[in-house]
Amino acid sequence: MANINKKPYKAFIVPHTHWDREWYQTFQQFRIRLIDLINNLINILEKDKTFSDFTLDGQTIVLEDYLEVHLERREILKKYITEGRIHVGPWYILPDEFLVSAESIIRNLLLGHKIASEFGRVMKVGYIPDPFGHISQMPQILRGFGIDNIIFWRGIEYDQSQGNEFIWQGPDGTELFAVHLPKVGYCNAQSLSEDVDQAYKVIKGAIDDLLSRETSKSLLLLNGTDHLQAQPHIPHLAKELNKCFKDIEIKQGNLEEYIDYAKKTVKPNLNKVTGEFRSAKGAPILQSVYSSRIYIKQANERCETLLENWVEPTASLAWLLGKDYPRSLIWISWKWLLKNHPHDSICGCSIDQVHREMITRFDWSRQIAQEVINKNLDYISEKIKIDYLKKDELVLVVFNPLPYSIDENVEARVKFPKEINLNRAKVLTIEGGVIPYQLKGYGLDYKIIFNPFRPPQSLEVNYADISFTAKDIPACGYKIFIIKAINDIKTSKEYETDVKSGRDYIENKYYKIISEETNGAVTIVDKLNNKTFKNCNRFIDGGDAGDEYTYSPPLNDQIVISQLNNISTKDVGPAEAILNISGKILLPVGLKSDRKSREDKKVECSIESEIKLYSEIQRIEFKTKFDNKACDHRLRVEFPTTIKTDQVYADGNFDVVKRSINVPDSEGWQERAYKTAHNSGFIDINDEEYGIALLNQGLPEYEVIPENNTIALTLLRCIGWLSRDDLDYRKKDAGPSLPTPEAQCLGEHTFFYALISHLRSWAEAGISQKTRQYKTKVLTKQLKNQPGNLSDKYSFIELEGEYLAISALKKHEFEDKLVVRVYNPADREATGKIKLGFDIHKVYLGRLDESYGEKLPYDDGVKITLRPKEIKTIIFEVLFK
Ligand SMILES: [Zn+2]
Repeated sequence: MANINKKPYKAFIVPHTHWDREWYQTFQQFRIRLIDLINNLINILEKDKTFSDFTLDGQTIVLEDYLEVHLERREILKKYITEGRIHVGPWYILPDEFLVSAESIIRNLLLGHKIASEFGRVMKVGYIPDPFGHISQMPQILRGFGIDNIIFWRGIEYDQSQGNEFIWQGPDGTELFAVHLPKVGYCNAQSLSEDVDQAYKVIKGAIDDLLSRETSKSLLLLNGTDHLQAQPHIPHLAKELNKCFKDIEIKQGNLEEYIDYAKKTVKPNLNKVTGEFRSAKGAPILQSVYSSRIYIKQANERCETLLENWVEPTASLAWLLGKDYPRSLIWISWKWLLKNHPHDSICGCSIDQVHREMITRFDWSRQIAQEVINKNLDYISEKIKIDYLKKDELVLVVFNPLPYSIDENVEARVKFPKEINLNRAKVLTIEGGVIPYQLKGYGLDYKIIFNPFRPPQSLEVNYADISFTAKDIPACGYKIFIIKAINDIKTSKEYETDVKSGRDYIENKYYKIISEETNGAVTIVDKLNNKTFKNCNRFIDGGDAGDEYTYSPPLNDQIVISQLNNISTKDVGPAEAILNISGKILLPVGLKSDRKSREDKKVECSIESEIKLYSEIQRIEFKTKFDNKACDHRLRVEFPTTIKTDQVYADGNFDVVKRSINVPDSEGWQERAYKTAHNSGFIDINDEEYGIALLNQGLPEYEVIPENNTIALTLLRCIGWLSRDDLDYRKKDAGPSLPTPEAQCLGEHTFFYALISHLRSWAEAGISQKTRQYKTKVLTKQLKNQPGNLSDKYSFIELEGEYLAISALKKHEFEDKLVVRVYNPADREATGKIKLGFDIHKVYLGRLDESYGEKLPYDDGVKITLRPKEIKTIIFEVLFK
């Protein structure tokens, strides 16, 4: 015993559980198991003072879930967490890093830190054992919370990491001390027997495996796996096992101790790896989850866009103008959303009931968001001075929450009092200039007036639905337009416009879209650059014999290509035009019982694409409806770019990731190498002189097919099983084999995507900013004459500088300060300036966790320089008058 400290190696038995909150059971079912787990854990800790450590999976939501039932045990949990016997945080939940936005990951860590701190201690380990691959920017994100390490399993090849520990470098150069878990994952010492000899066999095997990849004298033995409880005999077992090894001290411990000792004893010149981790060689990465239950991805994108681009920016502006910042309410909206972000939830790889419950959470998150936005916009609008309106006029305020001025289509229903009759309108600038607009309908409507002291009142009003292109809407601000009601028998004025149409085409200043008679695909003509793209918006359907995790086509697949033949144009006017293409696609009803080919029996499914151009806006919008009546298949829409390159760029979290179009040979891999990959808003193919960007709202899976460098965007992937063990593309199952009929996604779906062609690269063409604009659009408020002190247009915050983007504009978590987060997704240095429309006292450079120190000079704006892929959080102390 005297020699114990002389043993060079330390092996830490880390008792833990991996807590999938909902998956093959519902949240409520798993929670009952969680209650047992925590009750038993508390019993063990009370009875046995030598039971030194238990790790609660890097999450804090488990505390909330438990305390909702056992509030009386809060103090006892707090005691053990403070003492360092239970380890919680740094996360709120363990997310899928690709499928949620960058700001969602930040909020997750902010909330995890907040809750863990309230319980006395945050585990400062980037522990994320299970998620399906890892995003490139995780080094910078974790460092932004003062975490310098990560422990993970999937996504990197063992001949890449070349050891238990290595250095992971982010695209900006930030480094993490990274731990690559062994091939078995986060469970190399699970379910240890009370019998020392038997336990020795497991531990010896795990240690031999770790020593075969030795990079330090620190060895990690993870005693636990999915939903397993603490084993009370671990302290005794550790003591006994310690006697069995001459050079290795065996002790019960935690992840922080393991990391500390690894750093102390690590060999010099650790291997360095850069970039994202998405290889399926060493462990399955299950990345077809990007197309499982697409409706969940769409709902998530809506909520994230509302919270990040509307709720927080408008709440910040209203706060600067004197309104309370509804922080708690905004957090409730975020929390409902974050509860949908665990890897088993957002990935769509659980049983049907789990995903049904997610829909309600999305609804609640969105409802709160929309009401908060409404109140913010009301508050700001009410401060605008208007004293010039005649009886038949009203003001339409158009809001843009993005930090650069934009031209955007405005669609609004304007409502006039009942005594004002109208059959058309006039849209005017404040200076009196006439703006071409389109009347999309008019008639009688109701307006409900709420009053805190009287029941709601319903008023009859005359409405008009109008559409027009609003130019130069100021950065993070608003601009007003005057709408005049007109009631006469003359036909509406002929406006000069760039919008034109014929029997089978529509056209604006930038594009002409022509329907191809043969199959209902379209030819896109880029008029500015004289380029033509054929066979665009073509729908291709193939079979899928896979499961919720992995696409795996049947051995003898049958591919169906859409032949749509109803072609018409509609809503053609000075502001917009729609090319409508619809028809039926005849799909096999499902797979044959041997799952080796698709059924001979077919079913008709309707597809309708509305292709839209707006006046003077350089973007083609697609809205596609599909009525799915078939099972076991994958429907994609294709755009052949014909641009010659081997690279594709995909929008990601604080990054635009460059990926090779060619896929490696994956013979012998755990899972077939993925041809599909993730994007969070656009895919861009360019040869540096010219490019095509395909934008989308919540369609995260794409593939670039080498023939014509065709971008294929997955619209639906329909499968009937949580997991199966008979896949051609994956070796083992990824969960229990349970049927999931709702993952077949039967019924009507609507998909939104858009195309922008451009010169040079995506960065120089501002595709990041344009994608944000496409997702965000504008919102409006209607006003009458009112007193006020704000003028007819205003910019609160403007970001100048090529490449730069703002991901967050919010109030500081703890102080009366404004937080602006800027990042540079480009691969070259970017300089810029943040200009503010209000007075500033001081400016600081902050971290992602909103701590700050260094002061920045301010001189009619803050000058910023960001190295390639850098994220900067700038904190403003506002001078309130
Ligand atoms: Zn998991």
